[in-house]
Amino acid sequence: MAEFDLIELIKRRCPKARADVRLGIGDDAAVVAVPVGHELVCCVDTLVAGVHFPLDTDAADLGWKSLAVNLSDLAAMGATPAWALLSLTLPTADADFVSRFVDGFAELAALHQLDLIGGDTTRGPLSITVAVHGFVPSGRALRRDAAGIGDGVFVSGTLGDAAGGLRCLQAQLAKDSAMDAACATLMARLNRPSPRVAAGLALLDLAHACIDVSDGLLADLGHVARASGVGIEIEEDGLPGSTALFECFDVDTARALQLHGGDDYELAFTVAEAQIAAMQAAMSKAGCRVSRIGRVIAGAGVHVLDRKGDRKHIQGKGWEHFA
Ligand code: ADP
Ligand code: MG
Repeated sequence: MAEFDLIELIKRRCPKARADVRLGIGDDAAVVAVPVGHELVCCVDTLVAGVHFPLDTDAADLGWKSLAVNLSDLAAMGATPAWALLSLTLPTADADFVSRFVDGFAELAALHQLDLIGGDTTRGPLSITVAVHGFVPSGRALRRDAAGIGDGVFVSGTLGDAAGGLRCLQAQLAKDSAMDAACATLMARLNRPSPRVAAGLALLDLAHACIDVSDGLLADLGHVARASGVGIEIEEDGLPGSTALFECFDVDTARALQLHGGDDYELAFTVAEAQIAAMQAAMSKAGCRVSRIGRVIAGAGVHVLDRKGDRKHIQGKGWEHFA
């Protein structure tokens, strides 16, 4: 297959539903209309074979995940997703791979009324770059640097599942039939994360700081603490975990996965005491579980408290490419 046949295949299979796309795939660049009174929110993420995913990962899962990780960044800003660009570097013009990749990509794009408006197709070691664009009402984006002393700290969904899924994959625990269902649940969380777009929108005007948990809870809350010039205390017992996680791992391992594991794509955010009830109502309306996990304090760093309220010494860090 030639480059232009691949582009044609991608174009045919992706949703083209938005009226605000003036010019999509096919010209030198795309042209879109940002709604009046809104600001553009943009981000990009690259997935490299052998670094971000094993070489034998299902192409449809890759398509889903390469978009999901970007939608998660938009969710953390409280943005409404609208448009995506896709840069594919492929070892060969493998139509079957591209076709399955686009299946997964298009499935998630359709769920969020997102149009693919362009990209680039090149030859080289397998690597996928997706950029997404969305919008927020002007001046209202959720940021990392807005945590206030006294805020409660919250997280959506459950933590540690994706890291647990990776362990399952690596250890092939799935061979143990008693663990099959739980492992499959965790591996699905790893391969097909659900970006918390509705939750991010629900948090507009209610949350102070917000971040998505991609590199591990402690590492990501560390970014919030640094950017906001505050400290954060986390109660270990308050961390939400799935039944599947505790079926597959002992309590200590599960805790470590919840604190350090990456790839969860949940939202961690801070809320002033006076807004907590409204936030909980908004999150429940958005169909998103939310748990209180700690508080913002004067000081610096992220500290984990044990059951008695004493600070624990924590080893280990989140994911960092050049560490
Ligand atoms: P140019 O040489 O002007 O950069 P290309 O030949 O790279 O144009 O691309 C032609 C058109 O196809 C452009 O509109 C581009 O955005 C689109 N395109 C190329 N690759 C992809 C891809 N992987 N996904 C979506 N659109 C793509
Ligand atoms: Mg090009």
